Amino acid sequence: MRRVARASVWLAVFVCGAVATAAAQSPTFDIYWVDVEGGAATLVVSPTGESLLVDTGWDTDDDRDAQRIVAAATEAGLTQIDQLVITHYHADHVGGLRALAELIPIVSCLDHGTNTEESNQRWVDVYLEVCGDKRAAVEAGQTLPFGPVAIDIIASDNRLLDTPVNGGGPNPLCATAERKTQASPENQRSVGALFTYGRFTFLDLGDLNWAKEIELSCPVNKVGEVAVYQTSRHGAFDDAGAPTHLYAIKPQVVVVNNGPRKGLGGTSPGFTEVSTAHYERIAASPGIEGIWQAHRSLLDPDPAHNTAAERIANLGETDASGGHWIRASASQDGTFTMTNGRNGFSQRYSAR
Ligand SMILES: [Zn+2]
Repeated sequence: MRRVARASVWLAVFVCGAVATAAAQSPTFDIYWVDVEGGAATLVVSPTGESLLVDTGWDTDDDRDAQRIVAAATEAGLTQIDQLVITHYHADHVGGLRALAELIPIVSCLDHGTNTEESNQRWVDVYLEVCGDKRAAVEAGQTLPFGPVAIDIIASDNRLLDTPVNGGGPNPLCATAERKTQASPENQRSVGALFTYGRFTFLDLGDLNWAKEIELSCPVNKVGEVAVYQTSRHGAFDDAGAPTHLYAIKPQVVVVNNGPRKGLGGTSPGFTEVSTAHYERIAASPGIEGIWQAHRSLLDPDPAHNTAAERIANLGETDASGGHWIRASASQDGTFTMTNGRNGFSQRYSAR
C-alpha cells in the first residue's frame, strides 16, 4: 500500500511536470511596455513571432529610448521590427525613430497620414526619411492581420470606427458624461488599436483626449470591455481617461506609461490646476484587478496615488531608473501574466 502511494506521488510529479513544461512552451501573445520616461513605445509580439512596435519614445543624445526598445526586442527574441505604428507626430512618440532605424531593421510602417501641426512638421520629416518608401496610412474600421492576433483600427486621423467591435453596445454612463473641448489636434489624430488574441484584448489609443474618448463611447461604447488598457496621455487624466469611457471599457489591468515627472499625477498641457485624482479614478474603475506603472509618480508620490511598488517598473528619478519594462503574456483562453522587469514580480489574471 505504501509503495503504491509512493508510486502515485511519483506519477503525479511526472504528470504535473509534463503539464508545466507544455504550459511553458505554449505560445503567448506578449506585450512589452518599454520605459521611455513618459513617452510611448509598446512592443507586441504575436504567438507566431510577428512583431509590431507602437511608437518609438524620445530623441535623446545617447539614443536611450532606441536602445531600450532594442533591448526589449532582444529579450523577446526578435531581430527586426516587422511593423512600426506611429500613433501621431509628437516628440514623445516618434522622437526615437531615427536612432532606432540605425539599430534594428524596420520592415514596414503605418501611420494616420502625413499631416500634422506646423510645430511638429519636423517629426513628419524624420518619419518620411525612415519610412517614406515603406509606409501606409491606416483607417478606422480597418482590420490588420497579425498572425493569430486580430488588430482592429479604432481611430486614425481624427476619425473613429463606425461599427462597434468586441461586443460594444449602448453605454448608460453617457447620460451623465462630463464633456470637454478637444485639445491638441495632433493627439486627436492618434492611431488607436484593439488587439484580440482569443479571449484576450488589449486597447492602445495613443494620446486620444477626453473629448475623443466621449465620441468613442457615446452613445455607444464602440470597443466593448477589454482585459488590458494602456492609458492615453500617459495617465495625465485631466485631458483623458474620461470616466464615461474608462468605466465602460472596464479594464482588468491598466498600464500607465508615465514618466517620473510626466503623466500620472501631473497636469496636461493647457491645464494649470494640479490634480491628484488620476490614480484614484483608475482605482475606482469597475472590475479593475491591477494597476501597473512604468514609473512611480514623483509629481505626486503619495502612496495612495500610486500602485504598490512591486507593480512599478521604475521607482526613482530618470537617471537612476534603469529603464525597466512591464510585460504582459497572454494565452488564447484569456488568462494573462503581468511581469515587472525590475524585480521579476509577476501576477496571473484569469479570463473574465
Ligand atoms: Zn504622448
